[in-house]
Amino acid sequence: MTAPLSTAQIREKFLTFFESKQHLRLPSHSTVAPDPTTLFTVAGMQPFKPQFMGAPARFERGESKRVTTAQKCIRVGDIENVGRTRRHLSLFEMMGNFSFGDYFKREAIGWAWEFLTGKSWMNMDPAKMYVTIYDDDDEAFGYWTQDIGLDPSHIHRFGADENFWPADAPLKGPNGPCGPCSEIYYDRGPDYGDDSWADYYETRESARFLEVWNLVFPQYDRQEPQADGTPTLLDLPFKNIDTGMGLERVASVVQDVPDFYSNDIFLPLIEKVAELSGKPYEGEQSVSHRVIAEHVRAVSMTVADGVSLSNTGRGYVIRKILRRASRHAYLLGLREPSIYQLVPLVVRGMGEAYPELVENQKSVEAAIKSEEERFLKTLESGIQRLDALLSKQEKGSVLSGEDAFTLYGTYGFPVDLTREIAEEYGVSIDEAGFDKALEADQELARAGSKYGKAELFGGADDLLSELPPTQFVGYGQLEAPGVVQAILSGGESLRHLPAGSEAQIALHQTPLYAEGGGEVGDTGRLEWDAEDGSGEARVLDTRKTPQGVFLHRVEVVRGELVVGQKVQAFVDAERQATERHHTATHLLHAALRAVLGSGVQQKGSLVAPERLRFDFSHGAALSVDELAQVEQLVNRWITSNFAVTWRELPIAEARAAGAMALFGEKYGDVVRMVSVEGGVPFGGATVTSRELCGGAHVERTGDIGAFVILSDENVAAGVRRIEALSGELAVRWVRERLTAAARAASTLNTGLDQLPDRVAQLQAQLKAAQQETVTVRRQLTQAQMGGGGSSQTRELGGFKVATARLGGIEAGELRGAADKLLEQSGADLAVVAGDKGLVVKASKDAVARGAHAGQLIGQLAAAGGGKGGGRPDMAQAGVQDPEAALSALDTAF
Ligand code: ATP
Ligand code: MG
Repeated sequence: MTAPLSTAQIREKFLTFFESKQHLRLPSHSTVAPDPTTLFTVAGMQPFKPQFMGAPARFERGESKRVTTAQKCIRVGDIENVGRTRRHLSLFEMMGNFSFGDYFKREAIGWAWEFLTGKSWMNMDPAKMYVTIYDDDDEAFGYWTQDIGLDPSHIHRFGADENFWPADAPLKGPNGPCGPCSEIYYDRGPDYGDDSWADYYETRESARFLEVWNLVFPQYDRQEPQADGTPTLLDLPFKNIDTGMGLERVASVVQDVPDFYSNDIFLPLIEKVAELSGKPYEGEQSVSHRVIAEHVRAVSMTVADGVSLSNTGRGYVIRKILRRASRHAYLLGLREPSIYQLVPLVVRGMGEAYPELVENQKSVEAAIKSEEERFLKTLESGIQRLDALLSKQEKGSVLSGEDAFTLYGTYGFPVDLTREIAEEYGVSIDEAGFDKALEADQELARAGSKYGKAELFGGADDLLSELPPTQFVGYGQLEAPGVVQAILSGGESLRHLPAGSEAQIALHQTPLYAEGGGEVGDTGRLEWDAEDGSGEARVLDTRKTPQGVFLHRVEVVRGELVVGQKVQAFVDAERQATERHHTATHLLHAALRAVLGSGVQQKGSLVAPERLRFDFSHGAALSVDELAQVEQLVNRWITSNFAVTWRELPIAEARAAGAMALFGEKYGDVVRMVSVEGGVPFGGATVTSRELCGGAHVERTGDIGAFVILSDENVAAGVRRIEALSGELAVRWVRERLTAAARAASTLNTGLDQLPDRVAQLQAQLKAAQQETVTVRRQLTQAQMGGGGSSQTRELGGFKVATARLGGIEAGELRGAADKLLEQSGADLAVVAGDKGLVVKASKDAVARGAHAGQLIGQLAAAGGGKGGGRPDMAQAGVQDPEAALSALDTAF
């Protein structure tokens, strides 16, 4: 017997195989994506998008319409899958063969088959191969069944969600090359799952049928759908082939090991983790070995490709992965940096194919080590705090959810460690309380800011720090010219942004408001004229960096955006609704303080075109009266139609003028104060509104139109949340509810004013009727059993058995009836049959003598066309024919 092929040998065989089919072998692209559609390279085809669209197939190593590569891929979306399934890695190698307008489906299918099943190649058993194709791809079906001779029962057809690449591209995009695909599966056998290939059609997820290769037939150029949503798929001038074979998956099959972690690449890593920690790879803790072995590869490779661990973009993703691994190292008892010691093994395993690993080994080790040190410090200070907390707790007690949350939320201490350490003290943690605190925190974060993290600033800290703060010119105007200063994507600065691409761009000045102070970022558009025609981009969102650089997330619709381009920027009309909600929020704040007292403090807010949300400190729900007063005060301001003005002034002056500042908010020396120029009377005083605020507001309070409060609810201890609407939205909301109420009134044949009385009256009547039904039923049961007509007692098998046939009573009441029958008749067993159910009860004494209600009812139910079972003293069944069930008693003993 020869040793199975190593992963490196399989990689080499693949490339050699396609070289023998006249393919040019090219090196892997970096894990940093070649285009701005993703952060990382996610597929072998990604570097070749230009060739699929018709660019010349000219490369450093030569010109060829057929190429083959081993591409290292990072799929952020699969990181969560890493622990969940055994077929996903965060870093994996995708083997591919590509045709740019050269060969097509027939060859792609034939060669994939030859490589997988050929004796001198992968030598997989043809009987264990299965494939999927796109719904109407009869062409592929023909090649699979006729050229290859695959049994049609080994083929499933799926829709665009499964068998199109990218998935769902026709409807959802992205724009660019796409097409139907055909996936190849290997049946790993019943040891991996007892599902069949037919089941796979339903489940689409299987540990037994492993997808090893996807053959994609990119023949379309996807463009924006029509206005009515119809997909736009233009035929590409020529047809392409793009395939991806999962190297690690094929290696698991060829080496016949149950999962990645036992193959030749991972085993040495797993063993090293066991050696460093002194914890063998077994039992529940083995998940930690796997996470570390998996994650260290992804971290090493991306860092070797130049990603630095940071708080934004790519660096953030990779830091998260490394921290997850560090946490598991800690769980295995490792208290010193140790993951970096695995790097030499990663280099040994993959360095030959990816020489950048060898070149950067030292800096990769150093980066990982220093991040581990930092994280261990976080852990240590968390542990000290936790120890202090726990030493005060009794054994067997519960650590409050809030304490566990504070550790997590404030100190970044992972909750699973809290759980473990608490266990050592014999203390458990209040999980429900923790979840609640977490949820409340997330809610608050969301209320304060639409996005919790700054991670999407294009990930380009350094580039951003070179840009001057942006001039905001959007107070009171929705349009202004600007010059493009930078185009950022995935941590890099671009010169050009072609149609169909997304990026963050900075302008020297802009009318678009950047998310801040609870107000959402503006959406809008940019238009420009260039020598080669006009261009347009959608602004999908606007945010700003802590240094005040506004970043517009744009998607170019037409033309090309370049640095230095003069554009005209427009804010979408929704901004006016946002302004109404923003001024209304200030008025709501002032009204709440007037009605509830100055204990009210703002805790967060969301000002969006669709609604406003305001969180504030207050201990109790608002009464109906209080809500009405607050709402009325705001509306009084609106009808007074006061001017809303703003000016910039030194912060001390603003405070002296009584402007409300938010607790905990940082303000500069010069602040912007927004004032409503007029007060409204309340409780003998005049209420005014004056706040420090950078947001956009209406010109006069009358512009708000109307104001209505939708809800008042509790979001965290001592924090309430009000949601409200202004303008036409408010009127529409009230109208909808009035219409519903009017409909209800008309159904009940009454006027809207009498509706509450009428409902109360009906409810009282309903309650009385229900009571009566219960009484009547009880009487009926009594009469049926007492009358003796249908109830009788007999001797059967040495037991006194009382039976009763009761009509018109509910299944739920049968048990009570059986209790009563047993008691009244003094029998050993009571059998009661209703119209659809059956209950058997046995006395204690009868059970002691061997009676078994559960077994008896099984036989009776079977005779009555039903099923049932239960305990020795009580059993229940549903039956179709109660008479037949009762007659079966004679033969049951
Ligand atoms: P799955 O449905 O299993 O997630 P996929 O449909 O996402 O796979 P493709 O995008 O078609 O996979 O990628 C081509 C091939 O790459 C797959 O057939 C598989 O062999 C491999 N592959 C995809 N994702 C991973 C991963 N996370 N880890 C290892 N191999 C993968
Ligand atoms: Mg996938």
